Amino acid sequence: MVKVIRYGQKRRILCETCGALLEFEKDNVKTVQTGMNEYEQQIECPACHEIVEVD
Ligand SMILES: [Zn+2]
Repeated sequence: MVKVIRYGQKRRILCETCGALLEFEKDNVKTVQTGMNEYEQQIECPACHEIVEVD
């Protein structure tokens, strides 16, 4: 069993649309249903307002 020992840790991802390096937290991530049993984790890039998919 994997335990989370630290919440709120910031993660970074590169926006592929404008090239901005984005720093986000768990709270910023939206889970969007993209298919029958498919879900995608997304954030919105504040620079270009495009949707960026995160793992
Ligand atoms: Zn962007």
